[in-house]
Amino acid sequence: MFSLLGQVAVVTGAAAGIGRGIAEALLGAGAQVVIADIDVARGKATAGELGAVFEEVDVTSKEACADMVARVLERFGRIDVLCSNTGIFPQATIDDMTEAQWDRMMDVNLKGTFFMVQAALRPMREQQYGRIVITSSITGSITGFPGWAHYGASKAGQQGFMRSAALECARDGVTINAVLPGNVLTDGLRAQGEEYLRTMAASVPMNSLGEPSDIGHAACFLATREARYITGQTLIVDGGQIIPESLEALA
Ligand code: NAD
Repeated sequence: MFSLLGQVAVVTGAAAGIGRGIAEALLGAGAQVVIADIDVARGKATAGELGAVFEEVDVTSKEACADMVARVLERFGRIDVLCSNTGIFPQATIDDMTEAQWDRMMDVNLKGTFFMVQAALRPMREQQYGRIVITSSITGSITGFPGWAHYGASKAGQQGFMRSAALECARDGVTINAVLPGNVLTDGLRAQGEEYLRTMAASVPMNSLGEPSDIGHAACFLATREARYITGQTLIVDGGQIIPESLEALA
């Protein structure tokens, strides 16, 4: 329905999982896609498979984010879409959580989003056009889960960041929105274990976990020219997971 033909999109954390799903959706809509990831081998392989370009980035480094965007500009001359998707979600209860675990979560998920948005915003402002889509989560902003206090804080934090950012660039033709996945089957989710996957699937009204393409299509819509009047908003993609008021409501 919508076309991204001739547009340049950068997706972070796109070597695998949801980022890969977003990259595939953007490619399907006609965009030239840059897969930006810390995992060079997998990133290159994914880019090769999909017909995208690979750029290395560690989103916890301000310099690395700026350098990566500079390389994209050198190569393509513009950057129309940024999907800031990188995120980690190791579990730790508050009693056991170390300062290093807390800091790592914030560095990758929250500071990484800030660094990437900051780097992409400058060229987007110059073009007076841009679409930024952050991969946040239902966890933290709407729901909670034992062991994910730090993760939830980082994901809710992304949305707080997004709302002020949306105002800062509203007059420059740049929108910034967030997709909020529920539970999507990726390596990161598989690492939570079989029991987690089973109980999560059972708590989704649609009775199954999401697929990366489910998030990809939602992000792709927010990345289109036609989504121009939507900014500072969240789009929940969770198979109805946050809806039931009781266990009986799921039956
Ligand atoms: P994943 O672990 O399967 O993939 C994450 C990708 O990010 C990997 O390719 C990894 O190499 C890359 N990465 C990790 N650290 C990086 C860094 N410092 N710099 C650059 N790249 C880095 O994860 P996923 O399940 O696909 O999750 C992607 C995003 O979606 C995350 O932000 C996550 O919080 C969010 N999310 C996922 C789910 C889910 O159910 N899978 C649910 C809600 C939100």
